[in-house]
Amino acid sequence: MSCISEQLDEIQERIRRAAIAAGRHPDSVKLIAVSKTFPADAVLQAFKAGQKCFGESRLQEAAPKIGLLPEGLDWHFIGRVQSNKVRKILPLFGSIHAVDSLKLAKYTDGVAGDLGVAPKAFLQVNIAGEVTKGGFAPEDLDRSIEELRFLKHLKIVGLMTIPPAVEEAGQSRVWFRKLRELRDEIVAKHSIGLPDLSMGMSGDFEIAIEEGATHVRVGSAIFGMRDYKISGELG
Ligand SMILES: *Cc1c(COP(=O)(O)O)cnc(C)c1O
Repeated sequence: MSCISEQLDEIQERIRRAAIAAGRHPDSVKLIAVSKTFPADAVLQAFKAGQKCFGESRLQEAAPKIGLLPEGLDWHFIGRVQSNKVRKILPLFGSIHAVDSLKLAKYTDGVAGDLGVAPKAFLQVNIAGEVTKGGFAPEDLDRSIEELRFLKHLKIVGLMTIPPAVEEAGQSRVWFRKLRELRDEIVAKHSIGLPDLSMGMSGDFEIAIEEGATHVRVGSAIFGMRDYKISGELG
């Protein structure tokens, strides 16, 4: 058994336990294995171990990788979306996690129409109001949702956030909770469905699950430490 398949089993088991402890069904949490900076071979090992859902954050890196892998994998684009890349991102990725503005959402909807695809989309929320981070301000989301709900091709399934860097995982809980509460408020006020919450990474996914995450994005805990020098990615 490869190391990746063992790590994957362990993460799946931790997800299962966290869900049950929170009184949730284990199948209500989807694991996105974040394979950025890791080669196609690592993805293939995970796929052979039963993992179908993968996350990538840069088109330049992901496109050739996806081309090397079997069809039928469920690819999630988790990185920042530049509008000049949307036309290339949509044919490869069924889900987009970081739709960070009304303008980008409308543009992506138009491109999806041109291409005849209907991607799932998460709205990225800058939940802690960090000046360095993109995303909808929580107070703007309410206003934007009235336009977003009428998009024809992009299916808005929920919210996503990357909380501020913290020293201990437990400190992220407040942000995960705020994202869930924001979602609940919007759903109640606008009578729309926003079932999904994309939140939680290697260091804090169990806490995110306790707070309602439906999609956890886990990279290093499955594939190991990333070497950004290889991929040329910053940060
Ligand atoms: C890289 C990345 C992850 C995975 O981070 P790990 O700490 O390795 O689990 C999750 N979400 C986003 C948006 C990322 O860019």
